[in-house]
Amino acid sequence: MSINVQACQQLITALRSQNVSLVAVSKIKPVSDIKALYDLGQRDFGENYVQELVDKQSQLPGDIRWHFIGHLQSNKAKYIAPFVHLIHGVDSFNLLKEINKQALKNNRVIDCLLQVHVAQEETKFGLDETELNDIMAHVAVLKNVQIKGLMGMASFSNDEVLVRNEFRQLKKLFEQLGQPGITNIKPEILSMGMSGDYTMAIEEGSTMVRVGSLLFGARA
Ligand SMILES: *Cc1c(COP(=O)(O)O)cnc(C)c1O
Repeated sequence: MSINVQACQQLITALRSQNVSLVAVSKIKPVSDIKALYDLGQRDFGENYVQELVDKQSQLPGDIRWHFIGHLQSNKAKYIAPFVHLIHGVDSFNLLKEINKQALKNNRVIDCLLQVHVAQEETKFGLDETELNDIMAHVAVLKNVQIKGLMGMASFSNDEVLVRNEFRQLKKLFEQLGQPGITNIKPEILSMGMSGDYTMAIEEGSTMVRVGSLLFGARA
């Protein structure tokens, strides 16, 4: 399997013209597919599993910006801390504390998004509004992380009204994030939208979409 160059090129160009960042989600896909997309100019790639990310990072060009989009276990933060560009799925203060600790060890500041739960499905990770506010109230002491915004997933549903409403909820929470005077909160990124719903997500205010199967083909 390899990528459909023309379709990829079209999506990259379309999103660029709308000023929406594209994270190419390459989980389970081979390094050769990532390199093919890299050769089209794509630099942001997203992975869900720590070991897979570390393996791929070591085999691919150093100017790739690696996004961790999966559920990060605290004890694994140390493996990606030296190089990760943005961690999308932060859903607890304890995890944020551990990322801060590992960032400090690596003498860097790690950008993070807080994951908010808006979907109907029980299985999806993420914070509710109260938990989100609680983390935001305590984040100032963690000098080696920077909160760049929010990440979320809508329900897997054909119900457009439902999906749009979930994206709107995320957008509203994102707009309320601003905390003047706290230097490590800089809400610039709203990460929402995947292959099946990215156009709707953009219409509802997404600044960054995470697209996998549309670029790389369906996953086994
Ligand atoms: C797999 C995954 C994606 C990409 O999904 P597609 O439907 O293949 O575009 C986006 N975000 C997260 C969090 C994922 O796990």
